[in-house]
Amino acid sequence: MAEVIVALICFLVLLAMAMHGASLRTWALTVAIITLSAQMGLGHGQLHWPVFPLWSLFGWLVAGLLFAASFPELKRKYITLPAYRALKGSMPTISETEREALEAGTVGWDAELFSGTPDFAKLRRVAPITLTPEERAFLDGPTTELCKRLSDWKIRHELHDIPDDIWRFVCDHGFLGMLISKQHGGLGFSAQAQSLVLGKISSRSADGVTIVMVPNSLGPGELIEKYGTSEQKDHFLPRLARGDEIPCFALTGPLSGSDAASMRDIGVVTRGVHQGKETLGVRLAWDKRYITLAPKATLLGLAFRLFDPDNHLDRGEDIGITLALIPADHPGVEIGRRHLPAGAAFPNGPTSGRDVFIPIDWIIGGQERAGQGWRMLMSCLAAGRSISLPATSAAAAKSMLRMSTAYARIRKQFNLPIGFMEGVEEPLARMVESAYAIEAARALTASMVSAGEKPAVISALLKYVSTERMRQCVNDALDIHGGKGICDGPSNYLQGAYQMVPVGITVEGANILTRTLITFAQGALRSHPYLFTEIEALQDQNTERGIELFERTFDAHVAFTLSNAAGAFWHNLTFGAFADRPPNAGLTRHWWRQLARASRSFALVADLTVALLGGGLKVKQKITGRMADALAELYLLSAVLKRYDDDGRPKEDLKLVEYCARNCLYRFDQALLGVLRNFPVRWAAWLMTPLVFALGARRRPASDHEGKEIVRAALEPGAFRDRLTRDIFISDDPGDRAGLLDYTLARVVACEAAEKKLERAIRKGEVKRFHDNDWIAEAERKGVLTESEALDLAELRELVARVIAVDDFAADDLARSQDSAKASEPSKPKPEHIAAE
Ligand SMILES: Cc1cc2nc3c(=O)[nH]c(=O)nc-3n(C[C@H](O)[C@H](O)[C@H](O)COP(=O)(O)OP(=O)(O)OC[C@H]3O[C@@H](n4cnc5c(N)ncnc54)[C@H](O)[C@@H]3O)c2cc1C
Repeated sequence: MAEVIVALICFLVLLAMAMHGASLRTWALTVAIITLSAQMGLGHGQLHWPVFPLWSLFGWLVAGLLFAASFPELKRKYITLPAYRALKGSMPTISETEREALEAGTVGWDAELFSGTPDFAKLRRVAPITLTPEERAFLDGPTTELCKRLSDWKIRHELHDIPDDIWRFVCDHGFLGMLISKQHGGLGFSAQAQSLVLGKISSRSADGVTIVMVPNSLGPGELIEKYGTSEQKDHFLPRLARGDEIPCFALTGPLSGSDAASMRDIGVVTRGVHQGKETLGVRLAWDKRYITLAPKATLLGLAFRLFDPDNHLDRGEDIGITLALIPADHPGVEIGRRHLPAGAAFPNGPTSGRDVFIPIDWIIGGQERAGQGWRMLMSCLAAGRSISLPATSAAAAKSMLRMSTAYARIRKQFNLPIGFMEGVEEPLARMVESAYAIEAARALTASMVSAGEKPAVISALLKYVSTERMRQCVNDALDIHGGKGICDGPSNYLQGAYQMVPVGITVEGANILTRTLITFAQGALRSHPYLFTEIEALQDQNTERGIELFERTFDAHVAFTLSNAAGAFWHNLTFGAFADRPPNAGLTRHWWRQLARASRSFALVADLTVALLGGGLKVKQKITGRMADALAELYLLSAVLKRYDDDGRPKEDLKLVEYCARNCLYRFDQALLGVLRNFPVRWAAWLMTPLVFALGARRRPASDHEGKEIVRAALEPGAFRDRLTRDIFISDDPGDRAGLLDYTLARVVACEAAEKKLERAIRKGEVKRFHDNDWIAEAERKGVLTESEALDLAELRELVARVIAVDDFAADDLARSQDSAKASEPSKPKPEHIAAE
């Protein structure tokens, strides 16, 4: 027994030392003390270990080696240098464009999760949703008014375009200049306000929001505001803010999609004639496609690779990726034809140019910024990607939920609202969870950006997670609506979102790439506390300087790895009972602890994944994709816990928070399990598995019963449902397609008792419910219903009929005339060698 207790104490002491990053000399001393104590215990006959002399020898050997390693010269010779040489060829390398992308963004809460010991105070310091009175008034006033004016059907089907009066409205009210500073005539709104405005518009029309979103995201406005010369700012920003200029930004080309930096669009610095005067400029050739707003644009932002063969700029021949502003009517600019992306109606099309000469001062930021285009784009993308797509995805999740809960309560089959059936409850529960969690993550990230962060990794993970959840919500909403969701027409409120889903999935970094490459494979380099510096040290041409930097970082890295291994094992063994939590965590303290526990496991696996897969990381995308998923779940859980606190911990939300937390942690476990089961370095997987799953993968998803509780709450009109669907366009006007649902839902609830009486009478055969009979009047005649009940039910019958109605059309209305079909005949795709001519 004494042996077991002593062994346990030793084990706990060593574990604590590893967790707290003890120095090598402390390790050596502790191992020596343990060995000596054991020897003395044995000498006094108190301990009885088999083959003790061997153990004792081992103990002294380890203590001696640790002590020797604490001498810098010895450590350098026998540990650091061999490690440096071994890692030099095997760690991932960083290309120049990757470096620019990595250095462009900031790290924040992602780095805390990577550290294994997140500092919750940092998360709590991020402001809750905060709007100035002016921003709130804009959201409630002009934004609501715009939503009322947007007719999704007219845009998508009748015009296949954005109507002129909508363009006028958004220009007149400054929607196109939300990110432009007040000083330059814009609204100067915070990221949070921009996100909420975009979300609200998108809950009304996915096409409509695009014309507001693009000028307020990565494009001329933002680039000029951040990098433009003072002349460019003074000239363009007020014009962009007023909508006198419609901007677009052209980066993607036929052969450079996800790998945008490989563009073949070229600019050559040369002298030429502009407006009758000879001047230094750039002669351009480009071929771009998929450019949103291009067919309407008056100002084209263009990315191209700049060369200076005659060295006019005195910086050598290959200057690098450069951005310029070109008026759409400039000679040689081809622009105006349209693509038809997923049947959507927002303007999108190709642009090209050959032998187009522009003056050098059309480069954004002037000639000093020539060659800095990629860095400028990445810097804007790190912030911008946090706003637009998360905003529209969260809004889609919320509006799909609001409409589906109303419909599921209104629509009856088998004499029961379909929302009360378990089969429908399942997708509804998914939607409730997504609406809460994605909105939480949206709000948190927008607040970070409002505070000046440019979260490169978080923006990438939020982009793919929010659009994937949005896709699931839209699909779930369609399933719940059955044929009503499928038949298109003015009364269909789902098709606009459904058509737009693939656009969200593809733009701003297509999701497969964003999940499997950008979030973890590149993100780990950014968020990991030591990795980026180590790789820099390994890539340093000056070997002496590289080794010195490597040595400093490597020591800390080893301590970090040991700390996470011990911490993960300890917290997983004790189910997180001793894990950290923020002060005053209240009823969610258990989940905060679970977040800290999971972060330890993540940090350990992330660390060893990068260290052991090294240069192979970018091709082991099934592993890195799962690591991205694990990180995303931790981020969502952080956001959910913070939202609950920020919202004032409403009692009714606690069950939902627990539902989300349980599922986040379950999916987190599944992602890590997938990594460990498929980890290419098997010995490392064997080592990590007992540390991460010390007692097995025991977490379970939320139960069916918990799902029922949150869905039942969401099916009731009231504060819980309103909170879940906050800040989207809401109406109680039965003349409006969204308003009709909410209005009818309220009437369904109010008429429930009368409805039950009627149903009973129908079941007993006292009242006949057939098309040729007014069954409500019959029920009133027979005394089943009072007069006012009959009136209410008759009104409800009309409302329900309108809710479930689908549109039909005369065949002629749907047929396209021969002439219009001919007029819109598509151009033939050009093979690249012809396009290049
Ligand atoms: C409607 C719409 C609007 C757009 N608006 C604009 C705009 O305004 N301006 C602009 O410049 N561009 C715009 N784009 C372009 C958009 O950014 C690109 O479509 C996107 O970058 C993907 O490029 P691609 O379509 O050529 O796909 P590809 O690059 O051919 O990718 C195909 C698939 O391969 C995957 N993939 C590619 N590389 C990797 C990798 N290394 N690892 C794993 N998976 C990978 C991708 O994730 C994707 O699933 C728009 C696109 C659309 C459809």
